[in-house]
Amino acid sequence: MGKELLSALKTAFKADDVDWDDWHWQLASRITDVKALESLPGCLRPEPGDVEAGLLYPMLATPFYLSLAESLSAGDPVMRQCLPCHMELDGAGDDPFCEMEASPVPRLVHRYHDRALFLACGSCAVHCRHCMRKRIWGSQMGAPGDDELGLCVDYLGRHPEIREVLVSGGDPLTLEDEDIGRIVSAFASVPGIEMLRIGSRTLAAMPQRYTERLCRILGNAGCTVWLASHFNHPQELSPEAGEAVLRLMRHGVPVVNQTVLLKGVNDDAGILGRLFTGLLRMRIKPYYLFHGDPVGGTTCFRTGIEAGRRIMGELRGKISGLALPAFAFDLPEGGGKVRLEPDLFAGYAEDGAPMFLKHDGMPVEYR
Ligand code: SF4
Repeated sequence: MGKELLSALKTAFKADDVDWDDWHWQLASRITDVKALESLPGCLRPEPGDVEAGLLYPMLATPFYLSLAESLSAGDPVMRQCLPCHMELDGAGDDPFCEMEASPVPRLVHRYHDRALFLACGSCAVHCRHCMRKRIWGSQMGAPGDDELGLCVDYLGRHPEIREVLVSGGDPLTLEDEDIGRIVSAFASVPGIEMLRIGSRTLAAMPQRYTERLCRILGNAGCTVWLASHFNHPQELSPEAGEAVLRLMRHGVPVVNQTVLLKGVNDDAGILGRLFTGLLRMRIKPYYLFHGDPVGGTTCFRTGIEAGRRIMGELRGKISGLALPAFAFDLPEGGGKVRLEPDLFAGYAEDGAPMFLKHDGMPVEYR
């Protein structure tokens, strides 16, 4: 964003630099109505359908996240991800992955053999319009009580095949340090748990959250903690996020990123190439590029399957292999994740030498 717009935002929110750098201030100042932005330069008035979508799926965004926009218009990729839009009124089902059917105790989902998902809370720093869990927006699900954590710990203890817990939500890092400490200590105390993965959008939307204290809590959890960040567009790669990654790394917390392929936001090889290489420069490994899920209120963001295949094909061989994530789908009805990798094996030459396809599609014999 231009300095002019950043300064206009700070003035509109009456924020000084101390406020701006304080995650509690960012959280308390989240924008819940586009009307709050109407006085700012370039902000368009919402259409009646957009207002209706905002009533069904409320807007929520930290001032910092808005500051990543180039302009406050609906076409900006940052604004497109947080402004309510009439196209979200699509009427699709809201839990096609049947998460709730795979929930043996409240907040815990056990769908994969060696992993479990824990829903830490219902709140977020930003309401991503493409979110697959829009159904829990506004659910008022706060931090887990010790009794709820106890039930989860008990279940995990009875299932030694579970080695990893994915802590998600909502966004777990909107919780207070004390609550995060309770959660990670509880799961780390289960003998079979080797690793926790915390899924959070805050590195993009509220990097101020990564204080020394939080990074120390994550680094000293008692088992390995990974952070799974969620960046979808190069505009979201801020210097503040880069500094937060360095703090995490100093405490031994590695970071991987999950991106969602979003029509009109990042369905372009140039944009995703800049995102993935930018993530690597920030020391974040691009892990997954997800095809958009068939979830209510999000179908307007879905591309056809071919778009992702084409983009990954264009990127392969053009950017570092380290920068390439796996292109993946979450199958409905609890079918789990599948990765879509190209089959580059091209059979055998006459003399029996195996052949492979190069990045330009031409076969080459391997001897
Ligand atoms: S932060 Fe995560 S849970 Fe919250 S709206 Fe965004 S994608 Fe959904």
